[in-house]
Amino acid sequence: MNKKKWQLFFISLIGIIVLLLIVLNVLRFASLASAPQPVSTSLALATNTATATPTPSPTSMATPLPTETPLPSATPEVNGKVIIIGYSVQNRSLEVYQFGTGEHHLMILAGIHGGYEANTVALADELIARLKDKEISGPADVTLYVLRNLNPDGYAKQLGPDGRANADNVDLNRNWDANWQAKWSGTQCWSLRFITAGKSPFSEPETKALADFLLTNKVQALIDYHSAALGLFAGSGLAQKQSGQLAYQLSLVSPYSYPPVNSDCQYTGQMIDWASAQGIAAVDLELRTHTDTDLAINLKVMDVFLDWKRYLN
Ligand SMILES: [Zn+2]
Repeated sequence: MNKKKWQLFFISLIGIIVLLLIVLNVLRFASLASAPQPVSTSLALATNTATATPTPSPTSMATPLPTETPLPSATPEVNGKVIIIGYSVQNRSLEVYQFGTGEHHLMILAGIHGGYEANTVALADELIARLKDKEISGPADVTLYVLRNLNPDGYAKQLGPDGRANADNVDLNRNWDANWQAKWSGTQCWSLRFITAGKSPFSEPETKALADFLLTNKVQALIDYHSAALGLFAGSGLAQKQSGQLAYQLSLVSPYSYPPVNSDCQYTGQMIDWASAQGIAAVDLELRTHTDTDLAINLKVMDVFLDWKRYLN
């Protein structure tokens, strides 16, 4: 080749290279501009729609909230809630412990004769502790109320005969509107101290508060704890039959006798007679002594009593 031909070849080679570079650049730009861009936008759209689909998930996260709200309303457990039902003459609180929220309302009463029968209050405390620990538990359809001490003034005065009456010197088991009498007869009546029946039925704040509570809360059966040694007494009047049935069933699981020990005492203005007249199965249970709580026996008594709903309407 001569010099001119080499020059021509060289120029055309450069021209081809430049052209190739231009074509490659155009192609590269075109591939960037056309093909990948829709991909990235479709990805962006995809992530947008992907984040758009979770939007129902916040609503699905919101839906569990309403389903969570019924949980608190699903019968909260009542295990020893204290209800102050009134106050004594000397302004001491009358405390009822509530266990359960069932439709059948049962009640345990203690301390109506204050310090003279202090072991009934001690027993009520033992029962309350075991109910709280679930050592004793009633059926789900039972509400159990425990009044640990109806006569806190007498209890505070003396753990003995002087502690039997309330601060007005009234026997709180003679003050009810059931054959109420200012005076009663019987050589075998309690006579260690002079004691009255009150000015009239329910003259005392303690008996009035308990009567109101029993009616308001529609209590269906009760055991009124006393001491000592006379056995089981059943309330008279409307629910006499049910009261007698309860006393009888309790006598089967305990050494407490039913019918009780015979006495010539005229029992007037009594709590169980008033309760029974209101349709409540009501029993007086006398512990064996003034000192022992008879706990083991009364755990069996509780088993029968807590199942008492089967006899109720
Ligand atoms: Zn008593």
